Amino acid sequence: MRAVVFEGVGRVVVAEVPEPVLREPDDAIVRVRLAAICGSDLHFLHGKAPLAPGEQIGHEAVGVVEAVGPSVRRVAVGDRVAVSFAIACGACWFCRAGQTQLCEDLGTLGAGIFGGGLGGAQAELLRVPHADVNLLALPEDLEDERALFLGDVLTTGVYAAGVAEVGPGQTVAVVGAGPVGFFAAQASLARGAEAVYALDSLPDRLVLAERVGAVPIDVGARNPQMALAAATEDRGADVVIEAVGHPAAFETAIDVVRRGGLVAVVGMYAGERVEVPLGVWWARALDVRFAGICPVHAWWGRAMEDLRAGRIDPAPLISHRLPLEQAPLGYELFASRRATKVLLVP
Ligand code: ZN
Ligand code: ZN
Repeated sequence: MRAVVFEGVGRVVVAEVPEPVLREPDDAIVRVRLAAICGSDLHFLHGKAPLAPGEQIGHEAVGVVEAVGPSVRRVAVGDRVAVSFAIACGACWFCRAGQTQLCEDLGTLGAGIFGGGLGGAQAELLRVPHADVNLLALPEDLEDERALFLGDVLTTGVYAAGVAEVGPGQTVAVVGAGPVGFFAAQASLARGAEAVYALDSLPDRLVLAERVGAVPIDVGARNPQMALAAATEDRGADVVIEAVGHPAAFETAIDVVRRGGLVAVVGMYAGERVEVPLGVWWARALDVRFAGICPVHAWWGRAMEDLRAGRIDPAPLISHRLPLEQAPLGYELFASRRATKVLLVP
């Protein structure tokens, strides 16, 4: 079968690889109908996250179940499904508590040996372990393109607004209007936020945020703290969702939140550090929460209902649809920010 394969820093190719087979009784094989390129795929492309040459890549997909092992119960051959990017066991203490992102045996699709040596979703076929846990059967009224992001960025946005406990009447600031920020803004409005401010410096992202009802703030042209103060009688945002994963973005989040407000840190961090003035945060009574990786399995049901009800619309995000064979071009467009989201059709 054909699959996108990492060749080395800066290079992916579409290559012939062996077809995946059922290995465990709870595995499923999914025939991919649509895959997407994600920001975290670029970490591999740029060598910021380790991936060995020859390994498959990609973790966002919808497809049709082609085969299931004998112990699979909740999905059947022929079902159309979304795939979770995070592969959880469904049976450990954390999974049973709904915190599947903390699973004791957590894997990630298309992330090489550090992701558990699983295949990639940018391929014709994909093996999905613990299929009952990691596949979500899709209703007929939900087309592939609308369902595609349920396994990752869309549900992460819904989770972000949940961690932030966004509620009716609140003023929300979303730092970073990339795909997660785009969905977090919509999820915040879906939860009744009175106003959502999207903070970014990239014009394309600000236009997208505005299209789904957020107020764009170009942080390159306007001081975000003053912009939020002006919108809230000088208080600042009730809730801030940090969807970047950079110390500068984290500091912006702390700057724009009001006293007694809540900051949800959804952006991904590794070795970064910031100084915390404990007395200042204490006196401001800040509530700072770290979201960690999204427990997709606990939230994708809710995200699917938001989609079906039209409260969340992924369509504006999709800028390119390419055949799988043109994946290298897709990576180039996405890496150079000429694309907001690239879909690959096997
Ligand atoms: Zn992703
Ligand atoms: Zn588990």
